[in-house]
Amino acid sequence: MNLKSLSLPELAAALEPLGAPPPAVALKIFAAVFARNARAVEEVGFAPQVPRAVREALLARASLPRLEVVERRRAADGFVKYLFESPLGGRVEAVRIPLFDEKYVVCVSSQVGCALACDFCMTGKLGFSRNLETWEMVDQVLAVRAEADRPVRGVVFMGMGEPLLNYAESIRAAQILRHPAGPAISGKAITFSTAGHVPGIRRYVREGHPYRLAFSITSAIPEKRAALMPVERTYPLPELVEAIREYAAVRHQRAMLAYVCIRGVNTGREDAQALKRAFEGIPVKIDLIEVTDPTGRYLPPTPEELSRFRDELQILRAPIARRYSGGKEIGAACGTLEASARGGEVLAP
Ligand code: SF4
Repeated sequence: MNLKSLSLPELAAALEPLGAPPPAVALKIFAAVFARNARAVEEVGFAPQVPRAVREALLARASLPRLEVVERRRAADGFVKYLFESPLGGRVEAVRIPLFDEKYVVCVSSQVGCALACDFCMTGKLGFSRNLETWEMVDQVLAVRAEADRPVRGVVFMGMGEPLLNYAESIRAAQILRHPAGPAISGKAITFSTAGHVPGIRRYVREGHPYRLAFSITSAIPEKRAALMPVERTYPLPELVEAIREYAAVRHQRAMLAYVCIRGVNTGREDAQALKRAFEGIPVKIDLIEVTDPTGRYLPPTPEELSRFRDELQILRAPIARRYSGGKEIGAACGTLEASARGGEVLAP
């Protein structure tokens, strides 16, 4: 019984055969694991409310695995990047992002590597190894929180991997993260970023989860998008746009479009016009992100180019934000730490 992979209802069900302890016992154990970050099963089982039979069964059968911190890099702007190694095999990255000097958001990975092979992404170049289990996603947050000097108030699944291709485990991780007796992160502060896995978006909309989705678009010109994001060949833009339309309609809110800006590639007038045509009538907001490519093949736009593109995007009549890409010198973009050993102050694990 892996106590870090069970939501509260699943934990209560797992405890049933051990003598049907009262629901409060499951709640105590859940809180010990996720709110108090118990390091060993012994720390979980000794609460006075836990009956002896349950305690003995937990000590005999339960496990509390942990990711090992292999490396930390701290950037001057407060971003900290973590490289974890899992006992199940493989390394994944997470980033601690400071917000308003008062809280942190943690960017977590959902897969070891990624199969979607976006051309500007280092993780895409690593290829796909496996899906992470629920506990491996939750433990990234617990490990960062354990050494944070401010509370962790948000989680974004924007690290390595496509979370909607690891759907059930990612949703269960979010369910655990938002539970008030656990890490207690508001559902509205949990975001899944998708490169455009249309069946996953549709399922998400059907199931009506409280979390947010962000949609990586990067070009609304199909040929250009296919060259940058091969997922376009499987789920072409018109299908993706329809799924986003449904999401926005059901949520009664603007859909967040993430747009990775690349110098001389996707920041022209025709790119802005293509976005307008594709998303006509859909309430969206646009998040501009400057590409980070340690290989130097793709460069971020110049300040003038970015400013011109922002002006061009006014035709969409949508809110536009420029997302601060922090931690540049430590390779905070996903995949760069695992794929490259460049730069940054290396802290002892
Ligand atoms: S950008 Fe995201 S979806 Fe694309 S290859 Fe990288 S991790 Fe995968």
